[in-house]
Amino acid sequence: RQDVIDLVRSAQLQWPSHLEWHPDVWDRWSRKFGVVSGHKSWTELLPDLLKFESTHEKAAEDPETQERFLEERKKRQDSAEQLAQVIRQIHEAGLEWKKCRTAQEHRRWLNRMGAKWIRDWDSKSPHMQTIRKLVNALEPLDQLVHATSEAVSEDKVPARRGAKLSHKDVLRFLERRFREEPISWGDHGGVAFLDFMQARGLVFDHVFLLGFNADQVPRPATEHVFLSDMVRRKLRTLTKRPLSLASESMGEEQLLLAQVVASAKQHLSINWQRANERGTAKAVSLQIEEFASFLPQGEQPLSLDERMQAPPPFGPDRVPTHPGLAALRAEKRWGMLSELELALASSYLAKGQGAQACAQSFARLEAPAFTRQDQFAFVEAIESSTGDRRYDGDPGRPIAEEPLYSASSLQRLAKCPLQYFFRDVLHVRPLDDPAEDLRLDARELGTAVHLILERVFQDLIKPDSQMDLFSSAGPLALTSETSKRAEKSLERHWNSVMEPLGNRVRKRYPVFWDAAAKTWKKELREFVAKDLKRLHEMGMRPEAVEAKFDTKLHVPGNPAFDVPATTMRIRGSLDRLSRKESGELLVSDYKTGGNLDNWIMPKNYLNGNYLQLPIYWMVAEQMTDGAPVASELLGLGFSFLPDQGFVRKGAHSLPKTFSKHRPGLEEALAVFDSLYRKGRFPFHGPARPCNYCEFKVACRRHHIPSKNRVEEHPEHENYFLSTQRQSKKPTLDALAGGKP
Ligand code: SF4
Repeated sequence: RQDVIDLVRSAQLQWPSHLEWHPDVWDRWSRKFGVVSGHKSWTELLPDLLKFESTHEKAAEDPETQERFLEERKKRQDSAEQLAQVIRQIHEAGLEWKKCRTAQEHRRWLNRMGAKWIRDWDSKSPHMQTIRKLVNALEPLDQLVHATSEAVSEDKVPARRGAKLSHKDVLRFLERRFREEPISWGDHGGVAFLDFMQARGLVFDHVFLLGFNADQVPRPATEHVFLSDMVRRKLRTLTKRPLSLASESMGEEQLLLAQVVASAKQHLSINWQRANERGTAKAVSLQIEEFASFLPQGEQPLSLDERMQAPPPFGPDRVPTHPGLAALRAEKRWGMLSELELALASSYLAKGQGAQACAQSFARLEAPAFTRQDQFAFVEAIESSTGDRRYDGDPGRPIAEEPLYSASSLQRLAKCPLQYFFRDVLHVRPLDDPAEDLRLDARELGTAVHLILERVFQDLIKPDSQMDLFSSAGPLALTSETSKRAEKSLERHWNSVMEPLGNRVRKRYPVFWDAAAKTWKKELREFVAKDLKRLHEMGMRPEAVEAKFDTKLHVPGNPAFDVPATTMRIRGSLDRLSRKESGELLVSDYKTGGNLDNWIMPKNYLNGNYLQLPIYWMVAEQMTDGAPVASELLGLGFSFLPDQGFVRKGAHSLPKTFSKHRPGLEEALAVFDSLYRKGRFPFHGPARPCNYCEFKVACRRHHIPSKNRVEEHPEHENYFLSTQRQSKKPTLDALAGGKP
């Protein structure tokens, strides 16, 4: 997946001009739709998934949105199809390459590909000329390979496998040639960047050997692609020429190093990395030993180990890894600093002493001019625990648009207003993670389960359907015929919904997929059977699935705490709505993961961490004429196996005491809404949803002064108090002990 994305992003390649090129979009789709590997994922799976995208989307909110969605889907499909065509061409070209056998065939193929895919292939620029030259260096290889195999085979020395060259041989040959080809750096005012080979025979005032690590020096010995050591040895005897052997390359490498060392007239500096960018230790090259004999000695001769530990001048001069210390060392050593080093050094000197100290050390290092007052004012503001919030990304004024909530976005606002701000106000959407072969994304599975149940119940409800079980008045009649029909519907929709997932996983893990699918299907079957039976016993009749609502909740505030009463617009859809003849309503929501007990604990909905069931309850109330309502969760899926789901444990319903806690909940909703209306988005309350937060990088929750500013701001007080609500203290009055 990543290879294809890297390829289509490459600036070196030219793509057919009639195509609209959207590598970033393709990257996003490939993550979203679970492209893993194999060209068919791009040429067949992705266009197909886009074509049926609606099956993975919750139904659109309104006809206009639906129409727009369909238009967009068509464009997406076309774009995926265009990409598929390109991938197909590349794949076919790859197959063609694998058929090439001789160096001539390979050369012709490479030139054809170059002319077709590589930008400015025919240009006269030095690097293009070099690339073409290297490709054309394949030209004499057929003859060479043929001649050498003939020459050596006379004497029964095994020749290289016939004269056939595979694409892998050619690739290795080209890679090696590219590595060895001198790179022209041009004139850099007397400074030349060269490798050991290029530096041979030259002299310099100063030589700096960069990256003297074990993995770079000496170069690893590899046999030549076409002329193995065995063939070379034979040729050496036959021709009396000093043909080099990979097995003798160590001597050659030592000679090279000796030449480079001797090329320094005044000064030789050697450096190596002690760790890579991930902090993994890296070893110095063992050839460092060669220097031991001419480095300065103390009174006692030093072993290599002792020398490596000794301070300068007998041992190496260590560059500190801390960037601030490294900058200070540079200042001490050379008396010159770049702007970046200056900033690092001054902040290091002033660490823990605040912006003024930093400004002073900056001035001292940069003397005489100091002109960065505005930058220090900024540092001062973000480092102060009070007052100035200009740089906190907090609008601090009402958001222009009226808020439009859903149950989950309200929950997000309650758990962490800052996360809500990123996601629901700024509409920032991080990239999906790339799919993995064996990873069934929880969201993907959740959507699939919802979809299957939605379609099964849709089939059962449809008035014109043969399976018209619910449209007549009265409670659900449950016969063996009903169950059979439900099963048939489940079977049909299982295949269409699970196919995209199955396609992806089954290809590589057929046994795993078959076992998982079997378990899951069985669970779904039992779920539907039990659910139908239960509804029948309750006298309930399912009347809608995925029932859309767009409603307004009026919630009283608390003037004593300066929380105004408010009207909140809430939109969403209910997984299933069932009704009794008496008018009593039941809202059912399917859940495929999580601890369902959390959703029905009064403390959890009072402090806003789990709001879905109470919100659905309040929405359902508006759909009845005062008849009782109830809302419940039905758990289904792997995470509830073996005994936590609806099949074995039953439904999780909001407790009857909900009405007692309701004033506290409504007041909490008014507090959350007031944050939006004032443009205040502090980071989280005690719920700490940070582990799964997509905005960690943008959040300064660990920065103590920012934390103080946020937690101590008077306009955030009601919010932080609200996050402590519990059944014994459901209101602000109770929480504050009657003291606003
Ligand atoms: S990391 Fe935590 S505090 Fe920061 S935005 Fe995300 S959830 Fe909120």
